[in-house]
Amino acid sequence: MESIGAIQSANLSSDLGQTMPVLVAEDNPVFQSMLRSMLTKWGYDARITKNGLEAWEAMQAADAPRLAVLDWMMPYMDGVEVCRRIRTAAHEPYVYVLLLTARTDSQDLVEGMEAGADDYLTKPFNAQELRVRLRAGRRILDLQQQLMEAREALRVQATHDALTGLLNRGRVVEILFAEIARSARERRPLAVLMVDLDHFKQINDTHGHQAGDAVLREAARRMQAVTRQYDAPGRYGGEEFLIVLPGCGARDGYVQAERIREAFAREPFAAGGESMAVTCSIGVSSSDACADGEACRLIREADEALYDAKNRGRNRVAAFVSDQPSAESLALTKLAKFSEA
Ligand SMILES: [Mg+2]
Repeated sequence: MESIGAIQSANLSSDLGQTMPVLVAEDNPVFQSMLRSMLTKWGYDARITKNGLEAWEAMQAADAPRLAVLDWMMPYMDGVEVCRRIRTAAHEPYVYVLLLTARTDSQDLVEGMEAGADDYLTKPFNAQELRVRLRAGRRILDLQQQLMEAREALRVQATHDALTGLLNRGRVVEILFAEIARSARERRPLAVLMVDLDHFKQINDTHGHQAGDAVLREAARRMQAVTRQYDAPGRYGGEEFLIVLPGCGARDGYVQAERIREAFAREPFAAGGESMAVTCSIGVSSSDACADGEACRLIREADEALYDAKNRGRNRVAAFVSDQPSAESLALTKLAKFSEA
């Protein structure tokens, strides 16, 4: 028994790793100062409000406390109504609400709990009881925090490539679909780049897979450095990357691809203590007036253009040119010839 008692008091004496803000709403000045001094003594940052309206306003702040002690009977707005509003707003992260009540009628308590209170204490309350109730609330909030972090980690894992940190294939294709729909709606162009590292197999064979991985990571870093914030670069396959460029027509897509090609060719990559020249070839496809369901066509055309860039000697950009070339694709062909010269 002694050991259990010792564990309990150890738990109680280390209530807080850091100061946790607690919102208090209490109209009675005696209870107000009592709550303030108790909470402060236990290491909480007590934020006192004098009625329900003040409390509700305080809960709107971006850094609003996640733990709230609300008196039931207050002027302007009672604690149950504050609680109801907090739940209706569906706060995330969750707000843990402890209701203080002088009432003892069990029907009232049902009303308070149905409004979304997590727990209640009847006034006058015992200080130690309030303390452990607050600790229980903190535990719930900590658990919820961990759940949110785990959920976020899972979301990142499910949508990103573990090696390069870029979007994974599933996610970048999903974005392509979404951006095509948006482009169709807003009548804006869209370009797609298919980027492939040149002779990547040789890097792996000569320098080993670890060096190969380092090259892929550096390639991702360079691509991200030259793309805009709303572009979506993703790892499409082994050494192949798909980049979605919302708002870019054929010409802008080509210019953007050139920028990436240059970012690779400009200086050698460092991998595994060695320095090596790494280049890439890029295929560009685009649509000036997107229609839903064009994702496959854009990927296929970028792929064909990439094949063309590889055939013409690598370390170059090629734009897809259809059998019936438009004025712009003719201009692009000229632009490509110009940059090759
Ligand atoms: Mg009151």
